[in-house]
Amino acid sequence: MIYVVGSYNTDYIIRVEEFPAMGETIFAKEIIVSHGGKGSNQAVSAARLGSKVRLIAAVGNDERGREALKFWKEEGVDTSGVKIKNTYTGSAYILVNRRGETMIVVNRGANYELNEDDVELDDGILLTQMEIRENVVKKALQRFEGIKILNPAPANISDYSILNYVDILTPNEIEFKELTSADDIEYGLNILLKKVKMAVIVTLGERGALIATKDKRVLISTPKVKAIDTTGAGDVFNAALAHSLEKGEDLESAVEFANIIASYSVTKIGAIGPKWEEVREFVEKE
Ligand code: ADP
Repeated sequence: MIYVVGSYNTDYIIRVEEFPAMGETIFAKEIIVSHGGKGSNQAVSAARLGSKVRLIAAVGNDERGREALKFWKEEGVDTSGVKIKNTYTGSAYILVNRRGETMIVVNRGANYELNEDDVELDDGILLTQMEIRENVVKKALQRFEGIKILNPAPANISDYSILNYVDILTPNEIEFKELTSADDIEYGLNILLKKVKMAVIVTLGERGALIATKDKRVLISTPKVKAIDTTGAGDVFNAALAHSLEKGEDLESAVEFANIIASYSVTKIGAIGPKWEEVREFVEKE
């Protein structure tokens, strides 16, 4: 079983020509509403590949919360760990200008109400991110018995001792720099590897992903594709990594698989990854 402890947000993707200046009012070109939040994206992406996934998250006692529950059930995600809180479901307002640049405001709502006692875990794989309270993430990592993956997104960690409970840390390049304040990648990796137990995997967009363990560095390249929408590439990568590790693959094979699935996902619109039946042929070709 893969346990995903994380967030859910309703995403309001607001397309504009240019961002408004301070005090200015502008018209949107289009608004798209979709299911988001890193916890939900990663849980659904892993379930689509065929994993058994239990999501531990919180939604509000409102229509959007009920829609999220319906969505997870349709996607085959186990929702027995989802809590309904007496507040609003989280939401994210994502302005995207014509160059694809973004400005984002998140109302955390129920995500911020998820507490340590809400997290009940067994064993298998734990996948968690930083869009819920840090103490909840830490407690989940401390309690869990199996392989523990922390996707440090966003990377503003206040207590770095949390990394002592992580087996695999999966920052992208920006998060890696934020975590280590280091320009030199080797120096930064050594800082993180003093804490993280098994590996640091830095995702590098179209260059693939670098696996760093105490004794080696391995760069695993990703298939060359025509990228259409890279939103959520990291979420799909983490989900596929967890899926592969849960099946008992070693780290290098799991990263290779995660690269293939994530590269496929950037050729499609949306932050959630493909179903196994859809991607199977692509995986076999690669
Ligand atoms: P994030 O989405 O968190 O910014 P990255 O940009 O590093 O993370 O992307 C995560 C993974 O998605 C990469 O390691 C790679 O496997 C895949 N990926 C992202 N962009 C591309 C691309 N343009 N071509 C192929 N694969 C990509």
